[in-house]
Amino acid sequence: MIPGPEPTPPGAGLRRIGVLGGTFDPPHVGHLVTAVNVAHLLELDVVLMVVANEPWQKVGRRVVSDPEHRLAMVQVAVADVDGVQASDLELRRGGPSYSVDTLAELAEQHPGAELFLIVGADAAAELHTWHRPDDLAGMCELVVVDRPGTGTRLPEGFRGRCVEVPRLEVSSTDLRARIVDGRPLRFLVPDGVISLVHDLGLYRDRR
Ligand code: ATP
Ligand code: MG
Repeated sequence: MIPGPEPTPPGAGLRRIGVLGGTFDPPHVGHLVTAVNVAHLLELDVVLMVVANEPWQKVGRRVVSDPEHRLAMVQVAVADVDGVQASDLELRRGGPSYSVDTLAELAEQHPGAELFLIVGADAAAELHTWHRPDDLAGMCELVVVDRPGTGTRLPEGFRGRCVEVPRLEVSSTDLRARIVDGRPLRFLVPDGVISLVHDLGLYRDRR
């Protein structure tokens, strides 16, 4: 029998891939506004919201929800968002989640694609403390996202650009406190994620 063409693997043909990593505990509209606006501004084929398996900067400082629960919330959050996908890459790899490993894996999966590492200005200021920052700088273009009018600069050693995106004053930390206090989450978090938080009983007794 003559062999047919190889099936196209999912994600094949992506040329410009945005990587928005996070703990997403829980994901919120600030993350989504960033993802869709960066995708638009930089004409990306996709933005991957990469869920950290073990966010080593946060572990030991506070209770972090199970990675599977955080992944499920991100999947629900992006379900109807074109051009934004949840990624389980760091969960499948296991152990502490280093962006340098994630970018290496994506580069291998998508030969020739351009990788854009998307970080908020707060995270950008800490990049020098990340694992193997020099290697990281060589593997991606950095996209630093900040609210309009702040004049943020790229951290030293990285190539890339700073982009202005409306910055919504919402953080996962504040949302966890809201859940403990019984304050509303609506319009800060997609409705499907709110249902999942309730169904899984997340955050009731902790911040
Ligand atoms: P926490 O309060 O637990 O630190 P967080 O809201 O900062 O959570 P993270 O998962 O830590 O969420 O953030 C993932 C990425 O999203 C980081 O690059 C961060 O800078 C960015 N980010 C966080 N909040 C916002 C926001 N409101 N608008 C735009 N980007 C954000
Ligand atoms: Mg944060």
